[in-house]
Amino acid sequence: MTETIKIALAGNPNAGKTTLFNSLTGARQHVGNYPGVTVEKKEGNCRHAGRELRIVDLPGTYSLTAYSVEELVARDFLVNEKPDVVVDIIDASNLERNLYLTTQFMELGTPLVIVLNMIDVATKRGITLDEEKLSRLLGFPVVPIIARSGKGIERLMDKILEVADSTKSPPTVQLSYGEDLDLVLEDIVPLIQKNNLLTDTYPARWTGVKILEDDDQIQDLAKKQNHDLTTSLIARSEEVATHLQATLDVYPEAIIADHRYGYIKSVLRHGVITQKIDADRLYASDKIDKIVTHRFLGPLIMALILFGMYTFTFSYSELPVSWLESFFGLLSELVDSQLADGPLKSMIIAGVIDGAGGVLGFVPIIMFMFFGISVLEDSGYLARVAFMMDRVFRIFGLHGSSVMPFIISGGIAGGCAVPGVMATRTLRSHRERMATLLTVPFMNCGAKLPVIALLVTAFFSEQKALYMFFATVAAWVVALLAAKFLRMTVLRGDSTPFVMELPPYRFPTFQGLMIHTWERTWQYIKKAGTVILAISILLWAMMTFPALPEDQASQFERQRQGVIVSYQGQGNQEVEAALLKLDKERAEKTLRHSIAGRIGTAMESVSSYAGFDWRTNIALLGGFAAKEVIISTLGTAYSLGDVEAEESSSLKERLRGDPHWNPAVALAVLAFIMFYAPCFVTLVCIARESGTWKWAFFSMAFNTIFAFLLAVIIYQGSRIINLL
Ligand code: GDP
Ligand code: MG
Repeated sequence: MTETIKIALAGNPNAGKTTLFNSLTGARQHVGNYPGVTVEKKEGNCRHAGRELRIVDLPGTYSLTAYSVEELVARDFLVNEKPDVVVDIIDASNLERNLYLTTQFMELGTPLVIVLNMIDVATKRGITLDEEKLSRLLGFPVVPIIARSGKGIERLMDKILEVADSTKSPPTVQLSYGEDLDLVLEDIVPLIQKNNLLTDTYPARWTGVKILEDDDQIQDLAKKQNHDLTTSLIARSEEVATHLQATLDVYPEAIIADHRYGYIKSVLRHGVITQKIDADRLYASDKIDKIVTHRFLGPLIMALILFGMYTFTFSYSELPVSWLESFFGLLSELVDSQLADGPLKSMIIAGVIDGAGGVLGFVPIIMFMFFGISVLEDSGYLARVAFMMDRVFRIFGLHGSSVMPFIISGGIAGGCAVPGVMATRTLRSHRERMATLLTVPFMNCGAKLPVIALLVTAFFSEQKALYMFFATVAAWVVALLAAKFLRMTVLRGDSTPFVMELPPYRFPTFQGLMIHTWERTWQYIKKAGTVILAISILLWAMMTFPALPEDQASQFERQRQGVIVSYQGQGNQEVEAALLKLDKERAEKTLRHSIAGRIGTAMESVSSYAGFDWRTNIALLGGFAAKEVIISTLGTAYSLGDVEAEESSSLKERLRGDPHWNPAVALAVLAFIMFYAPCFVTLVCIARESGTWKWAFFSMAFNTIFAFLLAVIIYQGSRIINLL
């Protein structure tokens, strides 16, 4: 090969570019201006290993935004001239700030060689750098040099040629910019790609990020090519900008910068820098992190925070929950007194009020829980949780990027596996991604939460927060063990290195917390009012029809008359008690006669090993559609089987009073609900994200069998303990 290799030297001002340039080119250089602007342009040639290299010293910049002429010149040069290698010169004594520019080269997809210059200065300050580790984490070659003395330059030149000759394209890096911006990027990047908007010059994601950063130059270029598309992309970006303004009081640019620094911080945190402690140079965030992500203190603090959050949730939501309970009780009584007996009344009381209303009754708990999560998220603590969990995740064959999907799915409480499954897209290794995607449904999503809350308040009321905490820990333990199992069997393979963004701590704003809490709570209410309402009416119908055959119904009627006659002359109370007993018998017979009742009863032969009675079976079947349905179905089943509507006891009290239920059953049901098949929507997502329904069916069967075995063990185990 004889053609000249094009090299660009880039970096922050004063990083040592010119020093390196001079030592490489010696006398073979000339100085001019970039076309059209008065920014100095130095060009020169040099030879290495028999090859001719043309070297350009780019103007020093801190960033690649369009804020200054230097920045524009630098980035235009990179995309228009397409140098074979970009040498990114970094002041090793100031790594964190210098790497900011590096993250942008990485996103631009330039072939990089990273140079750690001024190693002598760094050493003097007591800083030692592990360049191999840095290289592994960033995915680019890293060479330490001392430009002033020429030390390391030979090795640098070898590396440059190696990269220039390499046929591999540079690794594309996708930083995460937080949930809000990532969602927008997920929308707009495919559009940019599909319409080939500027894709000849820039990677699609880079253009997307620039549009979010409100970069005039890119926006104008894009408009010239496709005005309508660009306008709609900008509109989308302004929408999220307004949202961020309202919730966090920041512009997208600031969030993007935060996440770039977060990424750098976490790279450096992996032991790239060793420095003799110099307290003054630690930023506040770092100081907090020293304690909060400490190997031993960190998890302890995390446990305390979670436990505190659960205590807060349950204690403060108790009162509003009881208000809602009495409200729905009054509503039932009102309907009962106003409507004539018949299917309509039964549907409204049993299907709508006790079904969907039962789901709504948990809104206060959900709201307090979401408030807690919002505090953790907006303050930046959640990212620290992810960071700490990474160490644990490796042991179980998962990737650090798996942590966020787990948290989104309800790792702390109250998420949803659907966005959780989608969030696994950040994972690059197929096997790690599949292992994550198949285990995130084990988390306690917002729909399981009310079921857990119901059973915990009904049977373990003294220790609510503690049980909630156990439920969280149990979900993680099961998910991690399942992941390990999958990674040792069907998804065997190596693990890939991980780097995660640690945004600086922010003090959450009250308004932001309110908006985030309300957005999530409203999702829950909306779902209860639509999908869940429809399903609970459907299930009510399945639990009501077919009605008891004529002869059986009239037989009950005759028995009723018989009771009234035979009790003549005795006290009112006795008659009522006898009638009540009869009515209860009839209600139960009717429910058993219905479609759902028959299915539930048929399943009892198996489910009784885990202590589930036929009513519970109906609810668990309903849960395949959506987990909230478990509550609404239990509500309907126990409402239909219970004619003392005037007393309007809550589902909690009904379960407590039912002879089929006891703490052992509750624990078994709880375990089953936490771990059995993901709901239908999640299954669809798993199929879509994995590309085949095979995995969705696998997940359904695997989880249900596992959950059932666990429930049997718990139920039988607690019976044995009780018997002893
Ligand atoms: P530029 O702005 O990136 O072109 O940086 P310069 O090449 O002008 O260098 C800035 C300053 O750092 C100059 O005073 C150089 O002498 C000094 N410098 C460059 N490389 C090194 C190095 O490896 N060690 C030390 N101690 N100083 C250096
Ligand atoms: Mg210079």
